[in-house]
Amino acid sequence: SMEERIESERTSSIVRLAAGVAHELGNPLNSLTIHLQLIERKLKKLSEQKDAAKLAESLQVCQGEVQRLDGIITHFLEAVRPQKPELNELDLLALVEEVLRVQEVELSDRLLDVKVEVSDDLPTILGDRGQIKQVFFNLIKNAMEAMQAGGSLRVLARRDADHVYVQFVDTGSGISEEDLSKVFQAYYTTKKEGHGLGMMIVERIMREHGGCINIESHKDKGTAITLQFPRQLRRTRLLE
Ligand code: ADP
Ligand code: MG
Repeated sequence: SMEERIESERTSSIVRLAAGVAHELGNPLNSLTIHLQLIERKLKKLSEQKDAAKLAESLQVCQGEVQRLDGIITHFLEAVRPQKPELNELDLLALVEEVLRVQEVELSDRLLDVKVEVSDDLPTILGDRGQIKQVFFNLIKNAMEAMQAGGSLRVLARRDADHVYVQFVDTGSGISEEDLSKVFQAYYTTKKEGHGLGMMIVERIMREHGGCINIESHKDKGTAITLQFPRQLRRTRLLE
């Protein structure tokens, strides 16, 4: 609709502006890094003075913060960079298994039980291989991180007349009702080492594929995340 188009144009211009700002931060950050290194070298020569140790400590804090800013910008640019999906026929089960293999060691280290259940008649979808893998990766990672005390992850795939669904069900910490609306916001995280961009990326990729994502969660019980993909008309059927 017209409204949706205006909304998506507004969003993309905000994204461009933000990407520009993040890019502009790069040069001063570089200069700061270089000058902090110079100060560090000069400080070493002054090391006999008693204030030097304190100064060196502050310097380290500054260097750490510069690194943190750099990380924030890098992740941000990755998250907003417009990527047009390159559409291919994808076997969802094969992709889920590929992503699970990447995370196998961590899954077994944490004694997490993993089950994949796929209905026999699951059709392929049209999607960008790399982007859909990123969606699965982010969701499995979050599920893992939500199950610090062990638990199980089930991946279910099924279809109906118009859609293909892939569901990730974990028995982890869950999300309270009031926090549910926040999970797609950039930088929303409840983790010490979190970036708060994973779910935002997932949501964007699903939207670009004409799909959507739905979350059901209960605090301390677990979370079920459902991806809905449109069913594609198979090319062969068009020829029939
Ligand atoms: P990050 O993982 O870096 O925190 P995300 O965007 O991936 O950022 O997730 C945002 C927040 O949503 C998480 O910090 C967590 O609070 C919540 N969340 C996402 N997935 C789950 C899940 N499966 N179980 C519990 N909480 C979740
Ligand atoms: Mg995450």
